[in-house]
Amino acid sequence: MIDPLERVAKHRRLSEKVECFTESVIREMTRKAMINNAINLSQGFPDFAAPEVVKQAAVDAINTDINQYAITWGAKSIRDAIVTKFGEQTGLQIDSERELTVTCGATEAMIATLLALVNPGDEVVVFEPFYENYGPDSVLSGATPRYVSLEPPNWTMDISELEAAFNDNTKAVIINTPNNPTGKVFSLSELKEIARLCRQYDVIAITDEIYDQIIYGEPDAPLVHHSLMTIDGMRDRTVVINGMSKSYSVTGWRVGWTIAEPAITEAIRKVHDFLTVGAAAPLQEAGAIALSLPDSYYQELADDYRARRDLLCQALDDTGFGFTVPDGAYYVMADISAFGYPNDVAFADFLVEEIGIAVVPGSSFYSEAERGSQQVRFAFCKRMETLEAAASCFAKLT
Ligand code: GLN
Repeated sequence: MIDPLERVAKHRRLSEKVECFTESVIREMTRKAMINNAINLSQGFPDFAAPEVVKQAAVDAINTDINQYAITWGAKSIRDAIVTKFGEQTGLQIDSERELTVTCGATEAMIATLLALVNPGDEVVVFEPFYENYGPDSVLSGATPRYVSLEPPNWTMDISELEAAFNDNTKAVIINTPNNPTGKVFSLSELKEIARLCRQYDVIAITDEIYDQIIYGEPDAPLVHHSLMTIDGMRDRTVVINGMSKSYSVTGWRVGWTIAEPAITEAIRKVHDFLTVGAAAPLQEAGAIALSLPDSYYQELADDYRARRDLLCQALDDTGFGFTVPDGAYYVMADISAFGYPNDVAFADFLVEEIGIAVVPGSSFYSEAERGSQQVRFAFCKRMETLEAAASCFAKLT
C-alpha cells in the first residue's frame, strides 16, 4: 500500500495532464496476448510481410548511405510522391514545398496538428466511438472534446446532434474515415454536412485518412472514400493525415504526413521539428517507392482484406456476436450482450485468458466507459491461418 503522503509527493512531480489518461489499452492488450500466448486480434498491425519491393527500397536506401537527418518536414522524394498520389486520388494540387509535413506516423501527425492549432479551452468535435489516441491528444493539446455519437448498429450520425456540438468556441473537428473502430465510411452527404458547419463556424477539419485504401463495398455498389478537403470551401480549412502504416503493412516504420494550406503547415512544421526533428530518412525513401506502386497493388490489398473480413465476420456470426459488417478499415466493433458478462473488460480478460484471443475492450473507444461496456473490437489485419485459428477458438464459446 502506498503511503498517501508519498502518493501526493510523487504526483506533484508529475504533470497534471499525464494524470488525466491511462496507458493505451490497445497496446496493453498486445502485451496480454503475449503473456497468455493468445491470438492477437487487439492491436491493429498486420502479422504478414510488407511488399518485397518496399522492403528492398529501405535496404537500398541504407546501403546508399541515406542515414542522416532528412529535411525536417520530409525528404523531397516522398513529398513529391505524396503530391502525385494525392493528386491522382482527389484532383487537388498540393505544393510539396509549403503544404506537406512528413511525421513519425499518423500518431505524431495528429498530436502535432492539435498542438499547432489549439489553445487551452478551444473545443474540438470528436465522433464517438473514437480511436483511443484522440482522448490523450485532446488532453495534451488542452482541447475540450465535444463528442458526437455514431450510433450502433449502423454507426449513424445524427445531424441535429452534430449541429449542437458546434459553437463559437469550436476550433476543429476530427474525422476518421474509413473509421477505427467501427468500419464506417462517411458518406459524401455526411461529409458535406460537416463541411457546412466548418464553414459556418470557421472550424478546421482534421481528417485521419490512414485507412483510405482499405475499403470494401459490393461489386454492384462500389464504395468510394471521399476526402473532406475536396468539398467546396474545405481546401484551406482541412488538415489531411495519412501514412504508410496501413497501406503498405509497415506499422513499425512510423512514417506519416499532414497536408494543409501553407500557414497551417508552417505551424505544424514548427511543432514537428521540435517534437521529433523528422521521420526515419531511409524509410522515407522507401515510402517514395511504395507510393508509386500501381493501382493493382491497392486492388489486391482491398481484396485480401475483404477475404479476411468475411472469414472473421462469419466466425463472429456463428458464435453469437452482434455487429455490422465494416465498409472499410480492418476492425469489427462487436456487441457482446449475448454472453452475459458484466462488462467489456471482464469479457476481454476471459477471452485472452481462457479462449486464447486478445481483443480491445469497447470502453477504450468511449469517453464514458459505460457506453462501451457491451462491446469489444476485433482487428482482422491478420493472415487467413491466424483468423482460421481464431475461428476454431471461438467454438469454445458456443
Ligand atoms: N491503429 C491501430 C489500432 O487501432 C494501432 C494503434 C497503435 O498501437 N498505434 O489498433
